[in-house]
Amino acid sequence: MIEFKSVTKTYRDGTTAVHDLSLVIPSDKITVIVGPSGCGKTTTLRMINRMLEPTSGQITWDRNPLRNIRKTQLRREMGYVIQSGGLFPHRTVLENIQTVPHLLGWKKDRSQGRAEELLAMVGLESRLANRYPSQLSGGQQQRVGVARALAADPRVLLMDEPFSAVDPVVRADLHEQFLEIQRQVGKTIVMITHDIDEAIKLGDQIAIMRVGGVLAQVGSPQQLLEE
Ligand code: ADP
Ligand code: ADP
Repeated sequence: MIEFKSVTKTYRDGTTAVHDLSLVIPSDKITVIVGPSGCGKTTTLRMINRMLEPTSGQITWDRNPLRNIRKTQLRREMGYVIQSGGLFPHRTVLENIQTVPHLLGWKKDRSQGRAEELLAMVGLESRLANRYPSQLSGGQQQRVGVARALAADPRVLLMDEPFSAVDPVVRADLHEQFLEIQRQVGKTIVMITHDIDEAIKLGDQIAIMRVGGVLAQVGSPQQLLEE
């Protein structure tokens, strides 16, 4: 469980991106943070792996203050997926997926075997393994981004608008695949989107943010639809 306790983030120029946020992110479920552009979603997500630090308040992970957990450990235990996959352009698909295992010093056989396994898991044919990102469609790049984030078997997956750059048909396909992967691996997932329909489709828990970085509502899709 990841817990935000009265977290505020004010940037150096005085912009308060997140205001007094208290939120429990349960383990092994999908939490979707939804809200309009500029409401503080990315800032919230980036405080979870300490790319950003809160200005005040505290975040804990299984009751340990994040502040006490090394960033290198967080990088290993929290996969990160961004829009369009965020792949390294000069690395092949297989090399991209092996990025974190490589940093962790895994043996080549092990990391390559793992990358091939993940390629299959995200529904990509093995013939794509040696292509470069520019030789893939947007949807394929996004799948590789998810595979890369899962490579070192992180406990947490942080996803910043992972499906928004692909067309609706591909997106629906990626949604199904993503839910299927989650049924298999059962990670703690925090995803952000500006699309409420996507949030309702994918989230076990939905947190709605408003401009000003304020949490407006939290609940299951059912609870939110009933209100
Ligand atoms: P979202 O992901 O919901 O679009 P962000 O977290 O990116 O929102 O941004 C929240 C607010 O903080 C916005 O007003 C944005 O302009 C501002 N912001 C984001 N990053 C910075 C920064 N590095 N410096 C100053 N303001 C920022
Ligand atoms: P950029 O400045 O283009 O965002 P970065 O060097 O910050 O590039 O990141 C390169 C890639 O590494 C990103 O696409 C992102 O997926 C991944 N990345 C960046 N920061 C982290 C992090 N804290 N944890 C995991 N992956 C990260």
